[in-house]
Amino acid sequence: MFLRRITLVALFAATRLGAQNGVTSGLETITPIDVRRRVLIIADDSMGGRDTPSRGLERTASYIAGEFRRFGLQPGGDQGSYLQRFNVGRRQLDGPGSAIELAAGGTRARVTFERDAFVLQRAQMQTAIDGPVVVVGGNGAGAALTAVDLREKIVLLVHDVRRSRVPAIAALVRKQPAAIVVATNLDGVAFAALVAEQFGEQAGPSLEERTTAVVEVRDGAIDEALRSAGIELAGIRASRTAVVREAKNLAVRVTLRDRFLDDASAPNVVGILEGSDPRLRNEYIVFSAHMDHVGTRHGMTADSIWNGADDDASGTTGVIELAEAFSRPGARPRRSLIFLTVSGEEHGLWGSGWFTAHPPVPLARIVADLNMDMIGRNWRDTIVAIGKEHSDLGATLDRVARAHRELRMHPINDLWPDENFYYRSDHFNFARRGVPILFFFNGVHADYHEPSDSPDKIDAEKESRIIRLVYLLGQEIGNAPNRPRWNPESYRRIVQPE
Ligand SMILES: [Zn+2]
Repeated sequence: MFLRRITLVALFAATRLGAQNGVTSGLETITPIDVRRRVLIIADDSMGGRDTPSRGLERTASYIAGEFRRFGLQPGGDQGSYLQRFNVGRRQLDGPGSAIELAAGGTRARVTFERDAFVLQRAQMQTAIDGPVVVVGGNGAGAALTAVDLREKIVLLVHDVRRSRVPAIAALVRKQPAAIVVATNLDGVAFAALVAEQFGEQAGPSLEERTTAVVEVRDGAIDEALRSAGIELAGIRASRTAVVREAKNLAVRVTLRDRFLDDASAPNVVGILEGSDPRLRNEYIVFSAHMDHVGTRHGMTADSIWNGADDDASGTTGVIELAEAFSRPGARPRRSLIFLTVSGEEHGLWGSGWFTAHPPVPLARIVADLNMDMIGRNWRDTIVAIGKEHSDLGATLDRVARAHRELRMHPINDLWPDENFYYRSDHFNFARRGVPILFFFNGVHADYHEPSDSPDKIDAEKESRIIRLVYLLGQEIGNAPNRPRWNPESYRRIVQPE
């Protein structure tokens, strides 16, 4: 009995020591030399400033995918590769291909977007939207709508140009109908200007699937079909009371299509490291950074290549160094890890928008995103961790930093709340979809978005200590019995409804 107990204790100690050694051996791969070398590769002139899309961006993605392969990560991209691609071709509303169709009894109307309608809010491009129709109009419809379920329905909002349509549309959008068709008595010239405006070029991936389509149509184009369904626009508009009623004998279909002007695409790079625990490995921590920057600007300065060393070769280096560290034998935590470098950040968070709309694992199983954007400059002993107050990740980070004073890296709260940095890098696409985040950021400087943001100015020693802190935080989150939790008030404010 005694002997057996000793054996068990010794065995347990050996396992813990083994795990501890694994964690340490991972930590030791994160070095200033590695950080400098990787920043020099990613922010080299040969990468051409990594605009989205560009050859330099593709070259950067290949380099990162090659490193992920060398570390033995599983591919998390398209068709068994490390690359997840999204369309960034320029596109334009397809005028003749898009339509609002109405049918009531024998009367049909097909309204196109070339003359008689325009798109107020894009959504679900390339698909047709159908559903039962609810007519809304008159005076004070807002209150009358409280108890009405509009999901999957098409709202026909009868608008009078003498009132603003914005509050009514905003109230309706919150009730998540499939589409809103606004019937308007707007005057011909103003209407024509809005019709022309909708054909402006769009860039970046189509991420409008989850929003409600809002289109506006001229009375004259639909009133005959509506009359066949017993709907009198003038009568509803003049009504002193609210009108909210289902139109059972009216069918409406809204089809919105884009025409692609070219077919460029851009990559995210995704590598996955499976966790060590058979149950917790179904949950994931994402480590993210954006590998793109703003490219080249000829004729503005003597140096035409904007290298983006701090923004964000530094964070990208962080993700690669973390992938290397966690893939050391014995270093992987119980939860699984996703290493993600995105593109299109500088154009409006495109890559993270695409990743969170098309994640390789269900988004509900992603327990945290730790994002690094600009971690190679400024103070040597502090790093701003934006979002600390919004979840218990902040307290976990403080605990890890206190337990590792040898790192000499003190995490602090957002110093610039008025700048809204919380909403300005890729972590926000995770946060707004319900994933708790921390955003590591050293603040801007005189070289921010200038050709002078060059690799020689990166403090690799300091950056290596920030990455070590994120590594130890990842170990803590990855091995914790419970997943991170939102502060409920922050959740209500930040997370958007599905
Ligand atoms: Zn930037």
